[in-house]
Amino acid sequence: MSVPGEPPVSPRLAEARRFLQGRQANWASRSGAPPTDDPIAVAQRRANERETNAVRDGAFIREGAFKYDATDEEDRWLRTRQIIERVSPGPFEDPRYLEMLARQAASIELALSPPRANPGIPPEVWSRIIIGTTGEPRSEAYSAVVAGTVVLAISGGMMDFMYQSAKALALAWQAKPASDGATLSFSGRPEDTEAVLNSDPYPVRLFRDTLTSWLYRGRPTAPSSVMPPPDRQAPIQLLINGAERFVLAHEYGHALLHHLKGAGLFSPADSPNDSPWDKEFAADAFALMSVIESSAALDRLPPNMALQGAAMAMKTHEIFDVVFHMTSDGSTTPEESATHPPFFQRIALLERMYVELHPDPETARQDLEGMLVPSRTLDQIWQRVRPELAEEFQVGRPLHPVWTST
Ligand SMILES: [Zn+2]
Repeated sequence: MSVPGEPPVSPRLAEARRFLQGRQANWASRSGAPPTDDPIAVAQRRANERETNAVRDGAFIREGAFKYDATDEEDRWLRTRQIIERVSPGPFEDPRYLEMLARQAASIELALSPPRANPGIPPEVWSRIIIGTTGEPRSEAYSAVVAGTVVLAISGGMMDFMYQSAKALALAWQAKPASDGATLSFSGRPEDTEAVLNSDPYPVRLFRDTLTSWLYRGRPTAPSSVMPPPDRQAPIQLLINGAERFVLAHEYGHALLHHLKGAGLFSPADSPNDSPWDKEFAADAFALMSVIESSAALDRLPPNMALQGAAMAMKTHEIFDVVFHMTSDGSTTPEESATHPPFFQRIALLERMYVELHPDPETARQDLEGMLVPSRTLDQIWQRVRPELAEEFQVGRPLHPVWTST
């Protein structure tokens, strides 16, 4: 839908892209990240690799441990490429991240578009949203409206941090024989995780090194990080896909419910007088629904598995805020923010909505436990890392400039 008196989409899109690329260049100059030659080609090549590595299996497509309906997956491949094209990343985008985010954005857009949603959001709305990553260390994604286009930028450091968190927590699970005897399964019991953490120092060390590397070297990639064993790759992938999709869906929620509502493109459910906190809760509720719907439609996943990544993302963000606070004044309790409700309240909303939406009240609580296992495991790791980190801050080692040059 074009708005009378406004220029056509392409110059506006160009302006929004320039704005995002300017922000990326600015953060790259502080973090020292080098530029990429032809980033759009690199991102499309990643998308291509994903497609060529997939295996056809009758009416399905298999990618690693995951199995998708072939038609749905081909739709998602196409949409992923279209989103990369729409963004047309600049030299300071990380093309590898952009491809992963574009795939999650594609999942959200497809699930909310006709024919999967009825009436669904019309295609011209999506052409007014672009996504990207920056070197800025922050938990909340950055969003701005530029020339009528919503620019969403997620912290590349936060993506790394979520990945390393998924890895650390999956390695803290005790393997057990699966009930069907076919595949390996993991225990979600806290006492089993404690036993693993007592006998294997790696998950705690990985998580601590990830944080200290981010703080002192500017990027959360721990020197101790090694490739996870094959049996952990599927749960890690599930967590990271779910986390990225939830974080993006939250921002799409702001785009559709708040930023673009003046354009008359979408009828918003909230009122113009909502407080900042109400807007955050509305974006979380939107994200929860989008993750459930897109995971059911495109990933053949039940809600509690689809939302494990969302719960983990909330926990990583909560930990990030505590760490960020520790760097500034050494205390461990973030002050109450005027713009964002605390994460424990946001997690409580997700839990409440999950139980309310569940078709069977008898099993809702039990299924909810399944959704929360990863965030509880991560919390167990964090409880061990936290005192070590507090000691680290006592030494007063200087932080990397990305933390101090805001
Ligand atoms: Zn938000």
